[in-house]
Amino acid sequence: MPLTTLIRRSSLPCPQISAAQALQLLAQHYGLRGSVKELGSQQDRNFLLEGEGGGHYVLKVCHGAYSPVELQAQHSALRHLAEHSQVRVPAVIAASDGADVLSLEVDGQAVHVRLLEFIAGQSIAHVAHLGRDVVVALGQLCAQVDRALADFQHPGLERILQWDPRHASALIRHLLPVIKDADAQACIAEAAEQAHVRLLPLVAKLPTQAVHLDITEYNVVWNRGPQRHWQLQGLIDFGDLVSTWRIADLSVTCAALLHHAEDDPLYILPAIQAYHAINPLLREELQALWPLIVARSAVLVLSSEQQASVEPDNTYIQANLASEWSIFDIATSVPIELMEVAILAAAGLEPLEVVEQPVVPLLPTLKAEDFTPVDLGVLSEHFQAGNWEQGGIDERLLAAAAEKTGLAATRYGEYRLSRTVPDSALEPETFALHVELHVPAATPVHAPFAGVLRLTADAALLLVGEAMTLRLWGVDSPLTSGAVTKAGDRLGQGEGALMVQLCRSGQLSPPLFVAPSWSAAWGALCPSPAALLGFDCDAPKLQDSARLLARRDASFARSQKHYYEAPPQIERGWRNHLIDMQGRSYLDMLNNVAVLGHGHPRMALEASRQWSLLNTNSRFHYAAITEFSERLLKLAPEGMDRVFLVNSGTEANDLAIRLAWAYSGGRDMLSVLEAYHGWSVATDAISTSIADNPQALSTRPDWVHPVTAPNTWRGEFRGPDSAPDYLRSVDKTLATLAEQNRQVAGFICEPVYGNAGGISLPQGYLQQVYQKVRQQGGVCIADEVQVGYGRLGRYFWGFEEQGVVPDIITMAKGMGNGHPLGAVITRREIAEALEAEGYFFSSSGGSPVSCRIGMAVLDVMEEEKLWENAQIVGGHFKAQLEALIEQHPLVGAVHGLGFYLGLELVRDRQTLEPATEETAYLCDRLRELGIFMQPTGDYLNILKIKPPMCTTRQSVDFFVAMVSKVLAELE
Ligand code: PMP
Repeated sequence: MPLTTLIRRSSLPCPQISAAQALQLLAQHYGLRGSVKELGSQQDRNFLLEGEGGGHYVLKVCHGAYSPVELQAQHSALRHLAEHSQVRVPAVIAASDGADVLSLEVDGQAVHVRLLEFIAGQSIAHVAHLGRDVVVALGQLCAQVDRALADFQHPGLERILQWDPRHASALIRHLLPVIKDADAQACIAEAAEQAHVRLLPLVAKLPTQAVHLDITEYNVVWNRGPQRHWQLQGLIDFGDLVSTWRIADLSVTCAALLHHAEDDPLYILPAIQAYHAINPLLREELQALWPLIVARSAVLVLSSEQQASVEPDNTYIQANLASEWSIFDIATSVPIELMEVAILAAAGLEPLEVVEQPVVPLLPTLKAEDFTPVDLGVLSEHFQAGNWEQGGIDERLLAAAAEKTGLAATRYGEYRLSRTVPDSALEPETFALHVELHVPAATPVHAPFAGVLRLTADAALLLVGEAMTLRLWGVDSPLTSGAVTKAGDRLGQGEGALMVQLCRSGQLSPPLFVAPSWSAAWGALCPSPAALLGFDCDAPKLQDSARLLARRDASFARSQKHYYEAPPQIERGWRNHLIDMQGRSYLDMLNNVAVLGHGHPRMALEASRQWSLLNTNSRFHYAAITEFSERLLKLAPEGMDRVFLVNSGTEANDLAIRLAWAYSGGRDMLSVLEAYHGWSVATDAISTSIADNPQALSTRPDWVHPVTAPNTWRGEFRGPDSAPDYLRSVDKTLATLAEQNRQVAGFICEPVYGNAGGISLPQGYLQQVYQKVRQQGGVCIADEVQVGYGRLGRYFWGFEEQGVVPDIITMAKGMGNGHPLGAVITRREIAEALEAEGYFFSSSGGSPVSCRIGMAVLDVMEEEKLWENAQIVGGHFKAQLEALIEQHPLVGAVHGLGFYLGLELVRDRQTLEPATEETAYLCDRLRELGIFMQPTGDYLNILKIKPPMCTTRQSVDFFVAMVSKVLAELE
């Protein structure tokens, strides 16, 4: 192996060429003029020419020691790709004499000069987080290039290149001494050796062809598309073109992707899937992939260490070095065997050639049917009111399950709820790769298959068989390490708690639990111990969530949207978190309805107690309706003395409109633009939020008169003193109605501008509007469905901020904590006006169950001091969000109060151009990081933050940190 050539080649100096010399070369040999700018490069001197005619080119000048045939090979490959693929690559521009490589002498230096077309765009190497779409695009690009180059031949391809993985092993050995730290050196040596050993038996089967060998974020040109997504423009830099293993190309791409993997080796799987779909790989190539990535990461570290040793003060090299080490760390953070399984499975291949191991019973003296399985999954009935957060709960439940027969077992493959982690961006390790057993003392434990015994440091007894390794904890064994056992031999005795785990590989030390994304790969390597236990100890497979969603779409009318394209299946909630079926906790920043938080035991208790006594309608005489009505009136301003009970905000607003009509004798309603009040015919008529209904503005019936939205932040008039300007729109509408002799029925609005994230109305606005409307005989309705009921912290009702008292208050959402409950509070004379039109009756409005729930919500809010929490934690929340304005140019403003906050994102703080796509990206990323958040507002550029009122400081800080992290990704 001519290593010396290889090393010498990698350290050829870059030719010294000035911009003036570049311009001269361009004019003399290509007849081109313009301005040049140097582009960074490792070994070539590159200049971007902006030609006088508008064309853009790259002048490449490399050391004369490069053989021209290699440069010719690059040019041929570029032409080949242009002809045989869809991949955009730079065109080669010939010099005036027709040559496409000029071998010249400049300032006494022998150089080769070439000119290529410039592909406009940017590198995304600096972008910390690259989404799945970029990973897929890189995999696809790599596949397209390899497919097109499969039949490409050129004498210049047979070259010796430092990055060719066929030389990796020798190169690593050669460069290893450059690392002075003995531990670090041993680490590299061991990883390289492991990769080499796995690669060796595969090498003979690996197909060889011409490959680019540097399809990484650095050499791919991108543009941000209209949706802010990265769009691939083309591939450049064919300097590493060589004939080697085909799979080497994808290994280079994947290794580079690890820079962006945030410690998750599985991050690269979509690239492999995408590649394999276009250019199918052999099983051996897929098996070779991770060893090649490990070897590449070792080569990268060593090359950087070598550079750093030559230039110890070069900070750029030092930074690069740290980054190469981080790739190496990820590449070696998982066993090669495990990644092989994950890669094969991702490509749709059977991950393992399974050899079934015949077994005899592990616990032959116990009756398998006497084992009681204990459900520790997300839906388990044993879990209530957060008891899964108590340490040791699973063990206690296992012991309790054993009460009857003395025998109980946890389930293999269960996503255990007790292992969920709230406020975490990482998936929790919930998936059980083992089974725990409760057995009587002195239970004999026998070898289920023949093998050799080993005792491990973590007190496990290992039985290493031919096709399987068994790990047992809790066995008292007289045997020593190295003992050879036959199937059925006694190993020792169990003393109460036993843990059993199988593994198909003797080399691995599998964890007891793994994160859901690893469950398939680890599950293939660590199968269920059901056969040796003699009973079904497997957790039932989870329902296919994607199919369930498809069934929803096929049965549940589609205008009722769901969050996210591929939403997680949420079947449990606790306090301010929602938990999916794999036990991942999501921070809930959306559920303003669940004011008390999810899964509150008082709700379950109250509903069940009242249901078991009575649930009927308001025409019967029962205490709850009286007590609840009185309680609501105590919360209302003085003078409001009548309550209607309904089931939703829509109903409450619809009824409020009817009351206004009945009391005023008119029908014409004034409402505020861009608001939402409900879905019924009347409430929809007064709703003009285009985010909810894009046709809102063109379809209003003639009794609806929207007035300008008093948005003091981005509206027509800005600032807290803009009330007089906004009042003009109200005056105009009222004047027109008066001119037409039309009786005004009323005015409705949210007293804090809710749709835009809780912007305060301009000072004095409601006072004036209420006065003007009342002067014309109309009534004033405050829609407190969202902002009222204590969410604002400082005020119980939103109208308090404006210092007004409405004629009608509507409320819903939080008052039932999710139980359908709505109310209208008004004065007696208004309430009674409706009687002239007949009776009002809502079959389940004010039912005993609803009333008891409504009262319990108020009780809990008081007992748990949730209003205070909204004020204190909400205040902290707002301050934390406001701090983001300084850090992130995208943050335009923070609106709202307490637990009703709006974070508005803009592209430009002057023009306030809404950052709609960025907000969508932010929400999608937050979901990946364990947070539910959705965009709102007419431009969908606002995070409307309205969490359960039990939200903690810890959750707030986690949320703000994650928002900040994602905003940084967008900058
Ligand atoms: N008014 C406002 C201000 C609302 O936000 C909503 C619901 N988003 C409603 C009324 C309608 O309430 P419901 O969905 O309970 O019918």
